[in-house]
Amino acid sequence: MPIKTSIQGFPRIGENREWKRLLEFYWKNEIDGCTFEKEMKDIRLNLLQKQQNAGVGLIPTGDFTYYDHVLDTAYMFNLIPSRFQNEPFASGRDLYFALARGTKHAEACEMTKWFNTNYHYIVPEIEDTWIPKVLYNKPLADYLEAKQELGIQGKPVLIGPYSFLSLAKGYDDEQFERYLDILISLYAKVIAELTEAGASYIQIDEPWLVHSISDKDFQLVQAAYNKLTNLVPDAKLLLQTYFESVSHYEKIIQLPVAGIGLDFVYDKGKHLSYIEQFGFPKDKVLALGIIDGRNIWKTDLDKTWELIRSIQTKLSDHTIWFQTSCSLLHVPMSLSYETTLPKSLKEGLAFAEEKIEELNLLKDHLTSNTHTSQQWESHQSSLHSFKKAYQSTDESVFPNYKAMRSQSFSERNALQKEKFQLPLLPTTTIGSFPQTLDMRRARTAFRKGEQTQEKYDQLVKDKIKHWIDVQEELDLDVFVHGEFERNDMVEFFGEKLNGFAVTINGWVQSYGSRCVKPPIIYSDVAFDEPMTVKETAYAQSLTQKPVKGMLTGPVTILNWSFERTDLPKHVVANQIAHSLTKEIEELEQSEVEMIQVDEPALREGLPLKKEDHTAYLDWAVNAFRLTTEKVKPTTQVHTHMCYSEFHDIIDSINAMDADVISIETSSSHGELIKIFEKHVYDKGIGLGVYDIHSPRIPTVEEMVDIIHESLDTLPSSLFWVNPDCGLKTRTEEETVSALTNMVKAARIARNNL
Ligand code: GLN
Ligand code: ZN
Repeated sequence: MPIKTSIQGFPRIGENREWKRLLEFYWKNEIDGCTFEKEMKDIRLNLLQKQQNAGVGLIPTGDFTYYDHVLDTAYMFNLIPSRFQNEPFASGRDLYFALARGTKHAEACEMTKWFNTNYHYIVPEIEDTWIPKVLYNKPLADYLEAKQELGIQGKPVLIGPYSFLSLAKGYDDEQFERYLDILISLYAKVIAELTEAGASYIQIDEPWLVHSISDKDFQLVQAAYNKLTNLVPDAKLLLQTYFESVSHYEKIIQLPVAGIGLDFVYDKGKHLSYIEQFGFPKDKVLALGIIDGRNIWKTDLDKTWELIRSIQTKLSDHTIWFQTSCSLLHVPMSLSYETTLPKSLKEGLAFAEEKIEELNLLKDHLTSNTHTSQQWESHQSSLHSFKKAYQSTDESVFPNYKAMRSQSFSERNALQKEKFQLPLLPTTTIGSFPQTLDMRRARTAFRKGEQTQEKYDQLVKDKIKHWIDVQEELDLDVFVHGEFERNDMVEFFGEKLNGFAVTINGWVQSYGSRCVKPPIIYSDVAFDEPMTVKETAYAQSLTQKPVKGMLTGPVTILNWSFERTDLPKHVVANQIAHSLTKEIEELEQSEVEMIQVDEPALREGLPLKKEDHTAYLDWAVNAFRLTTEKVKPTTQVHTHMCYSEFHDIIDSINAMDADVISIETSSSHGELIKIFEKHVYDKGIGLGVYDIHSPRIPTVEEMVDIIHESLDTLPSSLFWVNPDCGLKTRTEEETVSALTNMVKAARIARNNL
């Protein structure tokens, strides 16, 4: 049987983010639903065609979405929270977007990180009143479209029932089994229709299976798949996992499915050893995830070939496919746009399209089975010259000593109270203010050399001045400069630090229409020159109120970059931490006395297996502490984390030893604060009292409620009041209205103390 190649998903944002633009036009009412659908279809078909042209053996369908594939599934199963049900929507599409973005009357659904990536999914909400049904079989529609329009016999992609339910909320442990049962019937319906329409292999993503799963929970998986395959005996299900090795390998391979996809890139060698130990059933396809689907490095084909050979030695008569390790959603589309990267660096890179070529090379190699092709040789030789060009030096490996501030929190707190004289429940924001079109246009013009440095700097200064005035007017207690000079909180630092490269078109989806362009860490990271001092000091010179200096922390910079894989993560994190220490010194010298070091990615970087947590948290927390240990006791260190689940890492958050941490409390509807009820956290906490991801203006009352609810849990002396994240994606009008209400809410709560 000829070897098949496949991928689990393709970047959906289009070649030049046309997907994003289209969405935003639609949301702004600049195009109607008809135009939107038509143009989306063009984008969707174009993406499929690209995969077809690139020679992908089995092309995924249905991974394309208007917002998020988890939301698609929730919507498909009629999981529409009741708060949306009384509103009139012009179309199902508008209701769908409302779930993600909120409306005037209904808060958006919660959004959270997709496993340990920087992709965010919309958390499905299961309510007791849910009427389970298949509202719209999207996988079927997408499958048929690919077939009819392009003659592609696609591989429909669905999130598996076990993972879908595990990613959802609104039920307790006892209800899990019942809901899983209900979902199985719905999945059976969707799958039956697909099979009837001619679908052959259907990819069922069950990434949840790479977590540490108890035996008891695994029994539920077995029961679910037994039931599902009984209901759809003709369907050829491919159980797909990614991001780590699976738990219960020996049982997973016995599940009644037609094939199993495993990640051989992020499994730390476990899958090969499982194969050696337990074998693999002959009657199932084994899809080998051998090309890194979430980082941008060129594959060492010789090494991968060795792995393939070792697997083949064990499984000589098996049906084996070559795949990426996960969906290519996490990498940019094509290297061909990157005309400014040094050639020596480009030689080491592979984006989505190049990864497909690598799959083809491996496939051809297998079929020719003799000599390596010329393409193979040149691939390997450019990889080797890249590796040679960017080897690390010994000095770049800093010792991982335990960093510690010179005084304890209570000592620092007393000094800082004295110094800043802030009211109870001080108000502040998280850093960025609206990045309006004029600012973004000016940046693009400046980049292209169409705008002078002076003019650009002046615009940044004007913005800072304007927003300092706005903050005075709003009467916030602690100000920020607004981050106007930054395109993105990580890319900005990537542009300034040594060891990073930035791309021209290396966009990946982060959430909804928001895309980021992660910088590439290809060499040792080092401080070059001050990065944030000019703007922060200017802002501070305009006001008596303290202005927080804004930095992105080492763990977040690392996690949101394409990181090098030839050094351990903690070494790179320490390199970044040391560079940031220098920046902080510069800020302190310029009399900036509050410094926020954002670490929104600390939680998402948590390894998926419990046994790896401690080691990760140790170095991650230490990297943060290294960054901040040398600040004066009177300098107040803030940190910020958004959209995180904290219950399992609260001790580590405490150990970061920041004077104030701001967290999200609004979109998870106060659940977060409950965590603090059960655990000791004794430092300042900024409550994110409203969801900045939604254009909806929060009312004073709801924010007062959130504050009161939280005050039941923790002493008021620790509380700060702030939005739950930076405001760069909002308009000025939305920002001012929301913050006006927030300051009012803080005052009311203060008076009630
Ligand atoms: N300081 C950043 C901002 O305000 C923080 C963003 C984030 O946490 N994602 O934009
Ligand atoms: Zn945030």
